[in-house]
Amino acid sequence: MTRPLYAEDSTRLTFSATVVDVRNGALALDATAFYPEGGGQNGDAGVLRWSGGETRVRDTQRDKASGVIWHEAEGDLPPVGTPVRGEVDAARRWRHMARHSAEHLLAQAFFRLNPAFRVAAVSMRSAESTIDLEGNPTEADVLAAETLLRETLARGDLTLETPVVPETELHRYRLRREPKVRGAVRLVIFRDAAGIPFDVSACGGTHVPRASLVAPVVVLRTERIRGGLTRVVFMAGEEAGAYLAGVYRSARALAQRFSSSVADLPARVETLVAERDALKAEDLRLRARLAQALAEAVRPELVAGVPVRFLRLDDPALLPGALAATPEGEVRVALAVGGRCGIGSRRVDCPASALLDAALRVTGGRGGGRAALAQGNTADPEQFLQAVRAALLGTRLLA
Ligand SMILES: [Zn+2]
Repeated sequence: MTRPLYAEDSTRLTFSATVVDVRNGALALDATAFYPEGGGQNGDAGVLRWSGGETRVRDTQRDKASGVIWHEAEGDLPPVGTPVRGEVDAARRWRHMARHSAEHLLAQAFFRLNPAFRVAAVSMRSAESTIDLEGNPTEADVLAAETLLRETLARGDLTLETPVVPETELHRYRLRREPKVRGAVRLVIFRDAAGIPFDVSACGGTHVPRASLVAPVVVLRTERIRGGLTRVVFMAGEEAGAYLAGVYRSARALAQRFSSSVADLPARVETLVAERDALKAEDLRLRARLAQALAEAVRPELVAGVPVRFLRLDDPALLPGALAATPEGEVRVALAVGGRCGIGSRRVDCPASALLDAALRVTGGRGGGRAALAQGNTADPEQFLQAVRAALLGTRLLA
């Protein structure tokens, strides 16, 4: 079993130790300040140095059965018995400690609002950390918990204490939830200046020495997840500050783009959405009028006694409008750039779908529709109008 220096003092990030085992690219030491992955917190990274060499530690894992902590390293590793100096990646660890401590404090804030808001699972593996809660907290509850924690931290700092307490003494502490371990239990207590505990939890992780270091704790969103749980996604400390500053800069750039302020952005966007909807409706009206005008500008031809207008359109989007307004007794045949084609018919003796089918059999392509309106794509635009003409003559000759 490796002596866990991180449990004794989570701010001690450099240490001396001796190699006790080397296996599969990993090193075990007699003692370490490297925190092994566990409890939703990532394992530490950093550097191990010895006389004549050094290695980067990519990750740290604990073997549950033996209690040995393995430092996953690179390159040639020193033999058993070598004294080493360890240096944990401090910036990374402080981020992990802020996320983890914020998790304790935010969970306590929820618990104070309603003891039914119990933590089922946590993850602090990325800047967006999560607490999965029972008890279906509402958006109002989430806001209240965030506010309770912010006001608590604004009133004065909370200080970390991590006593190891025998199981028989645990009844003297107000634990937020039952410990998962037996025997001697390591408690993580955040206490105010008057000595009153804000949160007491059984935990083996690493935490910041003062709660003010996790501020601000910001809930980004909630999600309903499996098992009737509510996932609260939050960010803490420097990570939250940097992220929110970035969000503000983006919002400001967006506001400037729309000649607005950040505060007025929601109203500005509402106005723009309404304007866009009105323009879309106007665009549809104008398109329909243009399609109708283009159709009316073409002189009808008599094909086997049927008045037919053959339309060539630049814009395929005009095709439905031009065909939908086909007047009684007439047939309209439209071909747009790219091969989009269609037929409108207001004659029972010339069903549009049958004419289109017949024409597409000749030119190739796909399409379909009903007696009044059929649309498709022809594989041979050059021949399409002629094919429809032939189909009309054929239909009339059969009739
Ligand atoms: Zn913890």
